[in-house]
Amino acid sequence: MPPPVQTQRERFLRDVPRSGDALVDWILKQFVFFLRKETVRLKRKKRLIDKDIDPHRRALMGLISFDAGPSGEGIEITINSAKSMHCNRDEEVETLIHELCHIVFWKTWEHFIDQIERILIKRLTVEQKTYLKSFLPRHEVKS
Ligand SMILES: [Zn+2]
Repeated sequence: MPPPVQTQRERFLRDVPRSGDALVDWILKQFVFFLRKETVRLKRKKRLIDKDIDPHRRALMGLISFDAGPSGEGIEITINSAKSMHCNRDEEVETLIHELCHIVFWKTWEHFIDQIERILIKRLTVEQKTYLKSFLPRHEVKS
C-alpha cells in the first residue's frame, strides 16, 4: 500500500507547535496558514494612523486591510511598533492575534474579536506565542 498522501497544506503546517487543546491548535494553524500566504503582508510601523479603512477602536494599535496589494485582494496587517503602543514584541503579538482573528472570524463584531483575542492570549502556550512572534518583521516601514 502506498504511504498516505500528505497534502501541501499539511506539510506547510507540520512545524506549528501544539498546546494539546484541539480548538486553540486549530485556530493557530489558521493564523499560520494566512501568515504564510503570498497575498498576506505583515508590517510594523511607528506612526500608524487610521486611514478610514478599518475604523475600529484598536486601529491605532493594529490595522488590517482586506483590499491591499496589486490585485486588490491581498490582506495587509500593520502593527504599531511605537513603544507608547506596545512596550515590547510580546505586546505586539497580542495585537497580531487580534488582527488575525479578524481574518479567521471575519463576520463577527469587534466586541467578540476582543473576547476571542483575550481567550487566545490565555490559552496559547508561550511556545506558540513565540512561534507567532517569529512572523513579526524586525524592521519598520515608513509608509
Ligand atoms: Zn479589531
